[in-house]
Amino acid sequence: MGGESPMDFELTEEQLEIKRAVREFCLKEFTDEVMRRYAESEEFPWDLYRKAAQLGFIGIHMPEEYGGQGYGYLENVLVTEEMVRANPELGITLVFGDFGTELILMFGTEEQKRRYIPRITRGEGLSAAAFTEPSGGSDISKRLETVAVKEGDEWVINGSKMFITNANISDFIIVLCQTDLEVEPPYRGQSLFIVDRGTPGVDVDKLTGKLGLKPSQTCSVSFSDVRVPEENLLGELNRGFYHTLQYLNESRLEIAAQGVGLAQGALDMALKYAKERTLFGEPLYRLQAVSHKLADMAIKVEAARLLTYKAAWLADQGETDPMISSMAKVYAARAGFEVVEEAAQIFGGYFFFEDYPIERFYRIAKVIEVYEGTKEVQKDTIARFLLKRPT
Ligand SMILES: Cc1cc2nc3c(=O)[nH]c(=O)nc-3n(C[C@H](O)[C@H](O)[C@H](O)COP(=O)(O)OP(=O)(O)OC[C@H]3O[C@@H](n4cnc5c(N)ncnc54)[C@H](O)[C@@H]3O)c2cc1C
Repeated sequence: MGGESPMDFELTEEQLEIKRAVREFCLKEFTDEVMRRYAESEEFPWDLYRKAAQLGFIGIHMPEEYGGQGYGYLENVLVTEEMVRANPELGITLVFGDFGTELILMFGTEEQKRRYIPRITRGEGLSAAAFTEPSGGSDISKRLETVAVKEGDEWVINGSKMFITNANISDFIIVLCQTDLEVEPPYRGQSLFIVDRGTPGVDVDKLTGKLGLKPSQTCSVSFSDVRVPEENLLGELNRGFYHTLQYLNESRLEIAAQGVGLAQGALDMALKYAKERTLFGEPLYRLQAVSHKLADMAIKVEAARLLTYKAAWLADQGETDPMISSMAKVYAARAGFEVVEEAAQIFGGYFFFEDYPIERFYRIAKVIEVYEGTKEVQKDTIARFLLKRPT
């Protein structure tokens, strides 16, 4: 940010240029025809992903030596916000393309970073990260059902994971496993492993029938005697839970940015519609009940954006604050939901039809409050940090 503190929120000229460039890309590429094609086929939009990567938008915050652009979390937030604002289905699908790659950046060996990251940042491959299990995603501190046991110089993985984005088409899946079956509390015995595409024993099923995010691939994954070499351990043995929390504190910023983008996109549409639609001989916005709605929506967008930028700014200073990251995720996801709901109201019956993009926003609004930590789980985190503070 241009100023000295996160509250001096003016973006630099370069950051504004990134926002403009992403918006231009989305307006050109996310056409109605493209949207229809991917919504119907439910295929991953590889052509869009490669183009976005060529322009440097995928993994913009990854170091240049691994094919990224060397920017910070704030710039990644700006890319996400603009992509989702333009089209949440395609935008979220694209920004999730590198989900989990940052775990390698944070905890990987030099060899792992060079081997896995550049294909993702170049748009040639996708990544996936598997924490959630069929028995629940909110509590990953439990004894995991997915277990890795050491045999010679290999680890043998058995178990299953649920709702894993990109698992069917990714280069690799980073899997959180129980590696110490005795330790108490169990989270002290979890580790992360990189499972390469095509490893025998990995069975991936693409889940269908989703409410939205159709082009994004969501899968269940089962592991039956999956053997990975010792060098595929990611980070420290039995520190996987801590690595995961550290990673989520930062990846959560991207989810907050999804909420901001969703809210801004819905506000854009509602404003335009309220000016164009005439009722009682006047534009809709002249009705005070409508103009107050628009004002409330704009307040939420602005507040969500400030909180999200602040959380990202802190991360860029090396001062990631889990409480602020969680606040940003909870608040921005809620703002997205509420602003979309009010925008739908302003559209009247038209919101219910897919010819109007607001319908697409409506179908996606709820899930942002759920994935990468539900709002209840985030509030637990916020309260825990709040109560630690001196009163
Ligand atoms: C489209 C999509 C993509 C996803 N992608 C991935 C992915 O790539 N990788 C991955 O690992 N996961 C992924 N997820 C999973 C997602 O993170 C989980 O759905 C989420 O963490 C919640 O877990 P759950 O669905 O098992 O719900 P549960 O854990 O069963 O929770 C059910 C309800 O109980 C509430 N609850 C739980 N604990 C508490 C508590 N202590 N206090 C109060 N309430 C509580 C929850 O908030 C929730 O409302 C994805 C999910 C979706 C929908």
